Amino acid sequence: MTDVDMRTPGALADAERWTAHNYHPLPVVIAEAEGAWVTDVDGRRYLDFLAGYSALNFGHRHPALIAAAHAQLDKLTLTSRAFVHDQFADFCRGLAELCGKDLVLPMNTGAEAVETGIKVARKWGYRVKGVPDGRAEIVVAANNFHGRTTTIVSFSTDPDARDDFGPYTPGFTIVDFGDLDALAAAVTDNTVAVLLEPIQGEAGVLVPPAGYFAGVRRLCDERNVLLIADEIQSGLGRTGKTFAIEHEGVVPDMYLLGKALGGGIVPVSAVAADRSVLGVLKPGEHGSTFGGNPLACAVGAEVVRLLATGEFQERSARLGARLHEGLSGLIGRGVHAVRGRGLWAGVDIDPALMTGREAVERLAHRGVLAKDTHGSTIRLAPPLVVTEEEIDHAVEQLRAIL
Ligand SMILES: *Cc1c(COP(=O)(O)O)cnc(C)c1O
Repeated sequence: MTDVDMRTPGALADAERWTAHNYHPLPVVIAEAEGAWVTDVDGRRYLDFLAGYSALNFGHRHPALIAAAHAQLDKLTLTSRAFVHDQFADFCRGLAELCGKDLVLPMNTGAEAVETGIKVARKWGYRVKGVPDGRAEIVVAANNFHGRTTTIVSFSTDPDARDDFGPYTPGFTIVDFGDLDALAAAVTDNTVAVLLEPIQGEAGVLVPPAGYFAGVRRLCDERNVLLIADEIQSGLGRTGKTFAIEHEGVVPDMYLLGKALGGGIVPVSAVAADRSVLGVLKPGEHGSTFGGNPLACAVGAEVVRLLATGEFQERSARLGARLHEGLSGLIGRGVHAVRGRGLWAGVDIDPALMTGREAVERLAHRGVLAKDTHGSTIRLAPPLVVTEEEIDHAVEQLRAIL
């Protein structure tokens, strides 16, 4: 195929022309996908090692998820929560049981789950803990990523995410991730919650020091503070367990879920917590037109069934060991450090060699799609259906570009 026959350049130019430039995508125009592989408009195939930032944990178009979506499309797609539909209870019960919590509140995007968690924690603080009205504080970690709403970017420490978007929402205290003393010092009588990612994804797949979360749990218990785990990226099998915080032997008061909960088909997010927490919300106090819609519930319920088998968690643990072993072999050969758990890795490339952006461009050229985070760090997060051979292939391509 000659350059004139290629559809990619024109498609890239069109996309660039007609959208706000709030992303800097790799120059790949995807047209089809299955499992761990995508195909572009010119027929080139790529191994997907980003998996929609973990929204595609079960791979592209997992047959069971596609079947659930098709079946539901032929019956009922939307009712709003003004009425109850026949897919709702099944999804909520399944997810609540998966989380070991009493109740579930379904929303659509991850940011909405985070916003819901913040609202619930504040109301719990006023009505249950007895914090004076308007004084609730939530402690968060530096280098967090919890989404893009005005309130959420108010407690971001990333200038790109935050600058020029004020005035900012008050009520948040920022401490270093992994520093228990700093967290203890930041908690006051008005603190209603500690909101943390069990592993900080956007920050570069940062795993906290051993014992950190156990300490956070103890502190929250002592000070009557809710522990909110943002498992939107780290959860649902990504790290080799259903939830990343399980590795720490800790149960949070609230799980925030999203991304893979929609099976890579529809946006589905949720908050899961016990009645003593989520029960503070009364009719009319919170909601979403699309939240918990029939299509979302049908797909989400199938996601829960896939996770209930434990098969994906086991794959992630087993194949993740292989991925990390392969990547560790590159340390000192163009790689400075590798972090992560299960099928999730942050790889620090030697900045003298190339930037993270250059690394992912070269990987794309070799048929592996990944994404840089900050500076010279790239993140690898293949769908959990990836095979050993595909992992070895991706590691080999990384070795080749270094
Ligand atoms: C992606 C993400 C969010 C936000 O989810 P959206 O669906 O993009 O709104 C929140 N928290 C974490 C940890 C995420 O990775």
